[in-house]
Amino acid sequence: MNQKNILIANDDGIYSHGLRALANALSELGKVSVVAPEFEQSGVGHGITVRRPLRFKPTKLEGLDARVQAFRVDGTPTDCVVMGVHRFGKPDLVVSGINYGPNLGYDLTHSGTFACAIEGTHMGIPSIAFSQSFADQMDYSHSAAFARSLAAQILERGLPSKTVLNVNVPTGIPKGVRVTVQGTHHYEENISERFDPEGKTYYWVGGIPTGDSEADSDYTALEQGFISVTPLKLDFTHREYLETLRGFLGT
Ligand code: MN
Repeated sequence: MNQKNILIANDDGIYSHGLRALANALSELGKVSVVAPEFEQSGVGHGITVRRPLRFKPTKLEGLDARVQAFRVDGTPTDCVVMGVHRFGKPDLVVSGINYGPNLGYDLTHSGTFACAIEGTHMGIPSIAFSQSFADQMDYSHSAAFARSLAAQILERGLPSKTVLNVNVPTGIPKGVRVTVQGTHHYEENISERFDPEGKTYYWVGGIPTGDSEADSDYTALEQGFISVTPLKLDFTHREYLETLRGFLGT
């Protein structure tokens, strides 16, 4: 069997523990290359860097499997996938994460972790995003083990075109795996207004997580201690609505 090539990226930055755990776990499956942002880029979504140069720097990571090559890029998560494919050629699989914190429901619209998998999918490469719930002590062993088994299956079976997988792993020992839908979980706006030491106003944008109550959602699976695997389509067109819209626009 030909050796498989796997490209790993993330949005937490090259020094993230989740990234290392993922790279080490997948190094059993093929040749792993890591290309990750030099600095944390959580929340930047599918942004790319334009009108300034990008640097690609080999990086030594303590505890990283010796077979894995790692590079950091002073750009966005999506830049890392683009640069990785440019440098190493099209891999058999793009994997992103393991993100520090879950990516559920509407989080996917601003998640840099998910954006890496979007970019891979746009390039026609099967792609998976992995995230894990917050804990005081992050233990990535269960999520890394699941990532290895899922990645092995997707390397074997592939994915339908324009289809991307989003995976979330709960804290502790997962009770099992559920295939879920993207829920409606989002954040209620929560902006704090404060004063800096010079008396000028500044704002801290945060949010209060809403959760959702749909039985088959990503949020509910995670809430109940299960790993959630959501297949998403990158074809955004609402085909059922096309005719209605054409009708009232008279086109
Ligand atoms: Mn992140």
